[in-house]
Amino acid sequence: MIRINELRLPLNHAEGALRPAALARLKLADAELAGLHVFRRGYDARKRSDIQLVYTLDCTLAEGVDEAAVLARFAGDHHIRPTPDTGYHFLAQFGQGRGEFTGPRPIIIGFGPCGLFAALILAQMGLRPIVLERGKSVRERTQDTWGLWREQKLDPESNVQFGEGGAGTFSDGKLWSQISDPRHLTRKVLTEFVKAGAPEEILYVSKPHIGTFRLVSMIIKMRAEIEALGGEIRFQQKVTDLHIEDGADGKHVRGVTLESGEQIAATHVVIALGHSARDTFQMLHARGVHMEAKPFSIGYRIEHPQSLIDAARFGPSAGNPILGAADYKLVHHAKNGRAVYSFCMCPGGTVVAATSEPDRVVTNGMSQYSRNERNANAGIVVGLTPEDYRQDGKRDGSPVNPLDGMAFQRQWESRAYELGGGGYLAPGSLVGDFIKRQVSKEFGDVLPSYKPGVTLTNLQDKGRGSLPTYALEAIREALPAFARQIRGFDRPDAVLTGVETRTSSPLRINRGRDYQSLNVRGLFPAGEGAGYAGGIMSAGVDGIEVAEALAADLLGMPDAP
Ligand code: FAD
Repeated sequence: MIRINELRLPLNHAEGALRPAALARLKLADAELAGLHVFRRGYDARKRSDIQLVYTLDCTLAEGVDEAAVLARFAGDHHIRPTPDTGYHFLAQFGQGRGEFTGPRPIIIGFGPCGLFAALILAQMGLRPIVLERGKSVRERTQDTWGLWREQKLDPESNVQFGEGGAGTFSDGKLWSQISDPRHLTRKVLTEFVKAGAPEEILYVSKPHIGTFRLVSMIIKMRAEIEALGGEIRFQQKVTDLHIEDGADGKHVRGVTLESGEQIAATHVVIALGHSARDTFQMLHARGVHMEAKPFSIGYRIEHPQSLIDAARFGPSAGNPILGAADYKLVHHAKNGRAVYSFCMCPGGTVVAATSEPDRVVTNGMSQYSRNERNANAGIVVGLTPEDYRQDGKRDGSPVNPLDGMAFQRQWESRAYELGGGGYLAPGSLVGDFIKRQVSKEFGDVLPSYKPGVTLTNLQDKGRGSLPTYALEAIREALPAFARQIRGFDRPDAVLTGVETRTSSPLRINRGRDYQSLNVRGLFPAGEGAGYAGGIMSAGVDGIEVAEALAADLLGMPDAP
């Protein structure tokens, strides 16, 4: 097959226009082309009056047409290439020639996208993993999560962060990532999602998303596949300790203890904890597992009418079903040296209460597949370095305690709870008032979607503000700057809701090239909590890679994959 990249057609092109365009591009006659497959469809909306669809097409030539000769005609054209093999190839397969796997079963802690894909790949290889997840199964978890939003009751073990499916379950379900992916592992993730019921279009649209409800039923199907392959998934099984033994060649993991006191022996343990497992980070730190403080970001969620974003991005084509609800990505470098950027933008969605700890407020965003809620929302966050949050007051360049980021997040999450007035209400401000440093009195046309509710308050009080002063300054400067890219972004009645603190993990659990902890063999730090992913896709891909590394170690294949 031959792949054509960057084939451009007008937004409203006729359905039959693709084939003639491909023929023209390849300089072929109609009879020479047997078939055409859309591998990817994106759009270029930089010129709002002339939005273009941008295709990647795979072309099968008719029998007798010499593919090599056609490719040779385009030797210098990097947009025309042989179609790469994007299929997934397993490292090894037990039960087929190798016999049943009888060694100690690998353990995976956490059943978010990373743990899910690690478990799936290990199960598909015949390695029968045991997954330990502190939260509940996704249906029960859904009720608990709504319990916080509707009844102001938080279950610290079953919420937006913890439970089957992990943090991305109640989300926008954005399924794209900017990671480098030479092995096409994102394709494996998407293919498994489609097998589990996601719409086929996620395989070809450039920015696929599935929304919350579909994710829930997909996760249930994927769990069933893992179980059918001999894997085991146990809910409400919090891992509270790790057994580490000193050996002649260093420390080795030997198993885990659960909150119930049960102990499970294992020589291979994946820790796919997510960024909110603060108690588990503390335990790992106390056990001496190598980790370091890492940068992350904090800020607010902002809400605008989705129609404002659609008009700003798509002009006269706003509302076109191919384009869907518009998103945005914004960055501003503030005078005080801080970068302010939009994070996890959710078109046509809602702002959600995303805390996992009592008496703290954390925001995030989610949507349904239709993305047809009234408001667009996004995090507007400011980048931090470990030096910004070190708790010991030193300024000597010595390493920052890896747990300091957590302490800093907790401080601002507690402040937000206090400013909101309790009951998990979040503190908020209108954008116009925030820029003028005024306290807002009432909402305008934009009504905040955060449940249980938003309290208009002073986000910038001296000494009692909702974020550090440098972050407040940088965001104040960024909002009008963003309006130069999205007209109306700084409209006075847009709403800021605080605080967004869990943008990524505050620490990294370091691993080597073999994906194992730097100082504990058999321990595989993985996914977002370990600092190796940010988002559903990258966490899923990391899960695949870690599963492969674990299998390679188990099988004594040090050089694979
Ligand atoms: P997680 O998904 O956090 O999973 C970790 C799991 O480990 C949890 O289920 C937790 O309960 C479990 N666990 C923790 N400690 C223990 C323990 N001691 N014992 C047993 N189990 C434990 N990303 C996107 O790409 N697109 C989006 O649209 C998107 N929207 C989001 C919306 C919201 C509201 C949130 C909160 C996040 C969103 N994200 C989104 C981010 C995405 O969810 C995460 O990047 C992703 O889930 C990380 O995957 P993970 O498997 O590494 O960790």
